[in-house]
Amino acid sequence: MFDKILIANRGEIALRVMRACRELGIQTVAVHSTADEEAMHVRLADESVCVGPPPARDSYLNIPAIVSACEITGAEAVHPGYGFLSENARFAEILTEHGIKFIGPSAEHIRVMGDKIEAKRTAKALGIPVVPGSEGGVADVSQARMLARDIGYPVLIKATAGGGGRGMKVAHSEADLETALATAQSEAKAAFGNDEVYIEKYLSTPRHIEIQVLGDGQGRAVHLGERDCSLQRRHQKVWEEAHSPALNSAQREEIGGRVAQAMRELGYEGVGTVEFLYENGQFYFIEMNTRLQVEHPVTEMLTGLDLVQEQISVASGAALKYAQSDISFSGHAIECRINAENPHSFAPSPGRVDAVHVPGGLGVRIDSAIYAGYRIPPYYDSLIGKLIVFGKTRTECLMRLRRALSEYVIEGVETTIPLFQRLVGESDIIDGHYDIHWLEHFLHRPSP
Ligand code: ADP
Repeated sequence: MFDKILIANRGEIALRVMRACRELGIQTVAVHSTADEEAMHVRLADESVCVGPPPARDSYLNIPAIVSACEITGAEAVHPGYGFLSENARFAEILTEHGIKFIGPSAEHIRVMGDKIEAKRTAKALGIPVVPGSEGGVADVSQARMLARDIGYPVLIKATAGGGGRGMKVAHSEADLETALATAQSEAKAAFGNDEVYIEKYLSTPRHIEIQVLGDGQGRAVHLGERDCSLQRRHQKVWEEAHSPALNSAQREEIGGRVAQAMRELGYEGVGTVEFLYENGQFYFIEMNTRLQVEHPVTEMLTGLDLVQEQISVASGAALKYAQSDISFSGHAIECRINAENPHSFAPSPGRVDAVHVPGGLGVRIDSAIYAGYRIPPYYDSLIGKLIVFGKTRTECLMRLRRALSEYVIEGVETTIPLFQRLVGESDIIDGHYDIHWLEHFLHRPSP
């Protein structure tokens, strides 16, 4: 086991990783930008190193500075959290070259899954069902036209290097295709510096259901069930839950079993999430995230496993401690992503947090790094906390969530708490009847 781990991240996820380390008796090193000197992850770490000025590219993405921080402090491994360098294959390689363990999969697996076309090809070869679409990148509009006719409208044009829902455009008919292609290419170029796009069937009313996996890189892997992340705004998840209101246990075992088998064949190491769209009883692979996800606590609530400790354990070379039959699920969990944003316009609301009162009680978990007097800097993601609630049943979970949201107070900045207070009262949410478009429709409805 490691003696000291550097956490190449900030905010709630840096704290999350630190908590896992502390329980394992591992020393922690925080890195931070000059904007984060007062941040909670810096205060709670055993040691901290400033790695640069506020813009992420100069600090949290500054690979030489982070490698130096490992060398100065003697950290043997790096936990990348999510975002920032967590899916950067070159970073994983550079650490390896310096004799530092990257807590996550091999650079090769990160690279394959980071290229969406390669990822789809790999998934298909491993027996995972994929969305019908082009086998590779699309060169020009005449090729796009031919492909789209084959696939059938509507089609979705997506960036090969995509992420965060950018570079994605729908064409409902041939008349839309040329503009959709050009827009997707220019968005992709601007966001990722790579204008390659591909085409797939646009599913009209799917749910987003993802499977959590854990592997040891030595051919052992299990699945930890699914999460339903259909409630999205601009392709960004807002609310996540497990189990999915749409699946029964036979369906879960079927898709989970397939994914776990694929991970065994790959020799996948660490945690990962295989994302699907689910429509009319069918699963369609869209992508794999080769890292810990924001919504991982939902799975922890149902399985009782600490996913970060499991990541650290397999990264240290230990074999996976579980066979699939050792994994059991109990109850229901929901996570709400609390952002420092206006709950109507979603405009960011950085600034000073004047007061915080967090909910508590049975089945309530808060993962957050804010405190009264803390100044939320304007440079980073607006996620300031996650409220995760557990209940024996979905109904109990919803009742508890309603109660917890009524206790949650954050003063000084605007937050999305009022949005969740509205959502828990909606009959479609209570019934579990929602797809990936539900939230956008809800938000565009005139307010009562
Ligand atoms: P990103 O990496 O940019 O997040 P994903 O491929 O994960 O892109 O897709 C993000 C979201 O976009 C999905 O959760 C879903 O809401 C929507 N989406 C992606 N592919 C399709 C598709 N073929 N049909 C309909 N919606 C899609």
